[in-house]
Amino acid sequence: TTALRISGLQKTYANGFTALKGIDLAVQEGDFFALLGPNGAGKSTTIGILSSLVTKSAGKVEVFGHDLDADLIGVKRCLGVVPQEFNFNQFEKAFDILVTQAGYYGIPAKEAAQRAEKYLKQLGLWDKRDVPTRMLSGGMKRRLMIARALIHEPRLLILDEPTAGVDIELRRSMWTFLTELNQQGVTIILTTHYLEEAEQLCRNIAIIDHGQIAEHTSMRELLKKL
Ligand code: ADP
Ligand code: ADP
Repeated sequence: TTALRISGLQKTYANGFTALKGIDLAVQEGDFFALLGPNGAGKSTTIGILSSLVTKSAGKVEVFGHDLDADLIGVKRCLGVVPQEFNFNQFEKAFDILVTQAGYYGIPAKEAAQRAEKYLKQLGLWDKRDVPTRMLSGGMKRRLMIARALIHEPRLLILDEPTAGVDIELRRSMWTFLTELNQQGVTIILTTHYLEEAEQLCRNIAIIDHGQIAEHTSMRELLKKL
């Protein structure tokens, strides 16, 4: 099964700048995939399109066979996205953020509370459950974003620079968490501008530069060339 298929994806912003020049990409179910590229390459634009925050100019996106244009609800059900920037209600408590999110997916209240507890515990945030998000540290907010993206148990999790600005200790615990999640069958795609992160975690990799895929290969093949 193909978890994500992107064909001919283009994006020209309102100011006329073309950030994506026709991206083709396929990621198979079960993969741990890195989209690696320098700042400005087009990684966040690609993720913005996948999470419907950015409209595409041309091309096709399918998540587990659900077309982004024709079946947005189907896409949303099997996709979790962790954006780079925090976008919480800063007065809402960590636990309530997760229960609210579960509500968007029609998950009944009791189940929502159980899942919120499960993910807060898994991410080391259970003792922060009643803390408004504005009081959380950067690392805690990042982990809460991951919990929020997982609350509907998506088959594909996409993270935009998940460890940008986090300290080494937290980075390692996030790597362990993501590796275990992948072993449980969740397909993971992350963007990074940091080869070591891709090398540690990912089996397959695409390199994006100036809005184009420069290379699409296995991590092993890429390391042979470097
Ligand atoms: P990356 O995530 O790889 O750093 P982005 O997708 O954020 O790259 O940006 C790709 C290019 O698009 C950059 O040159 C950036 O300046 C430009 N860009 C991003 N957002 C906008 C916007 N809203 N309007 C115009 N240009 C943008
Ligand atoms: P800060 O940003 O203030 O440094 P963090 O949120 O990064 O705080 O981390 C707070 C503590 O929680 C750290 O000691 C970190 O190692 C620990 N921690 C981070 N991730 C996890 C996790 N998945 N499970 C348990 N503890 C964690």
